[in-house]
Amino acid sequence: MTTRVGILGATGAVGQRFIQLLENHEGFELACVTASDESAGKSYGDAAKWRVDTPIPDDVADLIVRETSPEAIPDDVDLLFSSLPSGVAAEVEPGLCEAGYVVSSNSSNDRMAADVPLTIPEINPDHLGLIEVQRDERGWDGALIKNPNCSTITMVPTLAALDEFGLERVHVSTLQAVSGAGYSGVTSMEIIDNAVPHIGGEEEKMESESRKLLGSFDGAELSLHDADVAASCNRIPTLDGHLENVFAETTADPDPDEVRDAMAALPGGDLPSSPDPLIHVFGPEDPDRPQPRMDRMRGDGMQIVAGGVRTTAEGVKYNCLAHNTVRGAAGASVLNGELLAAEGWI
Ligand code: NAP
Repeated sequence: MTTRVGILGATGAVGQRFIQLLENHEGFELACVTASDESAGKSYGDAAKWRVDTPIPDDVADLIVRETSPEAIPDDVDLLFSSLPSGVAAEVEPGLCEAGYVVSSNSSNDRMAADVPLTIPEINPDHLGLIEVQRDERGWDGALIKNPNCSTITMVPTLAALDEFGLERVHVSTLQAVSGAGYSGVTSMEIIDNAVPHIGGEEEKMESESRKLLGSFDGAELSLHDADVAASCNRIPTLDGHLENVFAETTADPDPDEVRDAMAALPGGDLPSSPDPLIHVFGPEDPDRPQPRMDRMRGDGMQIVAGGVRTTAEGVKYNCLAHNTVRGAAGASVLNGELLAAEGWI
């Protein structure tokens, strides 16, 4: 059965990725797009400054952009993908859920709310059960489900693999692409020939969201994982693909082969957009991989890529990478939508 879907904030960097990923999707049919009042009423082709590496689908270019409000969404749409600025999302997403829509959102508002599932389908699909708690508490017919921040989702699958060795402490330093800040986020004068060692709010998101994603849900309440996570986030002049250097301390003392095997063994899942396997792991013969330009499109941009696994007396060092607007944003929301559909929530 096909589910009719809409995209909130469809003209932006993540919104355009949604359009690309939904073209010819086997389970979702794009029925409406929304954006700010400045774009509403225009055709999508006129409103969006299209910058994705495939052409705008003709039928999407002709769609009229709607306002972002419950009244503007057609009744026969069941699932909304949200790529709104978080302040806007915090205002409009609850009203849409109250009006009966299921919202699969990228925006950072409410990711840490106790009754909002923050999910990566291959890692913590059981957390979707929080929807029952949310509906009981908020009286919604719809539901709000979030995917994590783009830098968090790049690292967490690798940490899930390390958890079998007793994950205790994580230090991570990121090299993040400019598309992570959206189209108006970083000017060329700031970033060309430069690196910016601060991304507002990003470190806190990595530190808290990782513990929620790796936490456990007992059917009523979610407990955070007790690992300490410390992040340093940096913007660099790559276009797409966040690269991260991770140092993890575990209670056991795995050797590099055991770490690589644990990462490579994580299954990709059987949803339409699932990569297989979840993590591509480079061995010691490729010590300079992963790299953003070479590896961000692995698994159609949905695979996590790891490499450079080394061990020290104190812990494990490695590098990981993911495409920030595909796996780190639109693709993550689409995958969550596929999980919602597969499990009968829509
Ligand atoms: P963006 O390029 O700035 O796009 C923002 C979108 O929201 C545009 O469609 C814009 O429409 C719309 N919008 C802005 N103000 C609005 C308003 N008042 N009412 C309705 N729509 C409004 O941003 P982005 O990079 O796509 O990010 C979108 C969200 O995803 C953010 O919350 C961001 O934190 C999150 N996210 C981004 C990434 C990434 O890698 N970029 C990764 C993970 C999560 P107009 O064109 O009409 O202005």
